[in-house]
Amino acid sequence: APDSATAEPLTIMGAGLVGSLLSLFLARRGHQVDVYERRADMRRGGAVEGRSINLALSDRGWRALEAVGIGDEIRQVAIPMYRRVMHDVHGNLSFQPYGKDNQAIYSVSRAGLNRTLLTLAEAEPRIRLHFNQQLTSLDPRHRRLELRDTVTGQEQELAFRRLFGTDGAFSAVRSALQKTERYNYSQSYLDYGYKELNIEPGPDGEWLLEKNALHIWPRGQYMMIALPNLDGSFNCTLFFPYEGKHSFASLQTPAQVQAFFEEIFPDVVPLMPELTDEYFRNPTGSLVTIRCFPWAFDDDVLLLGDASHAIVPFYGQGMNAGFEDCTVLNELMEQLGDDWPAIFSQFQQQRKPNADAMAELAVYNFEEMRDRVGDPRFLLQKKIESKISAQYPDQWTPLYSQVTFSHTPYAEAWQSGREQEQIMSRLMSHIQTETDYDRPEVQALVAQEMAARS
Ligand code: FAD
Repeated sequence: APDSATAEPLTIMGAGLVGSLLSLFLARRGHQVDVYERRADMRRGGAVEGRSINLALSDRGWRALEAVGIGDEIRQVAIPMYRRVMHDVHGNLSFQPYGKDNQAIYSVSRAGLNRTLLTLAEAEPRIRLHFNQQLTSLDPRHRRLELRDTVTGQEQELAFRRLFGTDGAFSAVRSALQKTERYNYSQSYLDYGYKELNIEPGPDGEWLLEKNALHIWPRGQYMMIALPNLDGSFNCTLFFPYEGKHSFASLQTPAQVQAFFEEIFPDVVPLMPELTDEYFRNPTGSLVTIRCFPWAFDDDVLLLGDASHAIVPFYGQGMNAGFEDCTVLNELMEQLGDDWPAIFSQFQQQRKPNADAMAELAVYNFEEMRDRVGDPRFLLQKKIESKISAQYPDQWTPLYSQVTFSHTPYAEAWQSGREQEQIMSRLMSHIQTETDYDRPEVQALVAQEMAARS
């Protein structure tokens, strides 16, 4: 319950997904919260906003949304995706369930989710939202910051007591911390970029590909994916090298793009009437991993979300990890009351190894999605793995499920996933078909491996 005796005014920079959610957690603990956001209020103005981009939301994200009471509201506009559907170059499909029967990841609109969080924040008397306010300078030592009004150009200087930096991968709060002593920072870009494209709905707003699935066109060195929207369309993302034989550099004209897609992704071309327009109109996004430490400056400034750990999008965990940051911070506030130095320091000690593990997992999953999911041996291995998991539920949870459908810390999941991968490679040399799993000698090997694990 909020304790107004110890509550104090707090400042949040950035009202994206993580900042707007964080404001709710802080306000509900009794704090007065001022939230500053560079962009205009996304709920106002903008008549046509283009088609919204969607994100995969999974258990870690749901837990945080449920904690602030909007799980049900979001569920009504979220589309469950129960399996991966792989499309080969001939348009043949293969399938891989994500988890057990009812387990799914959910396609949600990024803008829709952000708007819902902002509306909820606005309804909280303790939260004040300030839009069109860009952080231009921060002095953490003297706890002062400067904001520029992006509409009027007017500047103002403010004092703060405690500042939460949720201003995303290119965080201005982090930039200021980078100038403090012994600050560790690294960024690394993949040689791949991404391009967003659309699959149109059918004439009656129906989905022209299986609705409740995440579609993948794995092509070895690159891939395309598609997630469903409520209006029958799909958002596609092409992950593609910047340079090389098949690359952004090699596709320079509409005719080249058209020919390439017809050869490599033939089954979707008829569903993308605006393919070449979109390809040249939409920007090419880059893919960066950002690591830094510390995340806290004394007990005055704390980074959360992409500001502290930006990762590549292949595990669909960036937002989920940022939401989990909020859950963990909330738990620490619950346990430690107003001992902010302890809260900040335990938060970063606890979260940093997990954020690092998630960053590695995200790169690892890129290889799986663009390459391995197109390999029948890999799909067989996944089937065998789910048999093991069904037979030994206490000893075996597939890595994907640990990351996506559990709250096991990412670092533990990654460690156990690597151990399981080694076991699988030993077992798979004895397995050629699904039924081989039931052969007594294979069963004996599995039993032996499980005994060694427990
Ligand atoms: P952001 O969402 O970037 O919000 C930062 C906010 O701060 C913005 O509103 C910005 O305007 C504001 N801001 C920035 N600078 C300033 C400043 N100087 N002053 C004031 N305000 C400022 N994650 C998933 O979980 N599932 C997915 O399926 C998924 N897919 C993705 C696909 C792609 C192509 C990409 C690029 C990312 C994907 N992610 C996904 C990751 C996810 O988008 C991020 O992890 C998430 O948006 C992080 O939220 P955030 O609030 O930390 O940062």
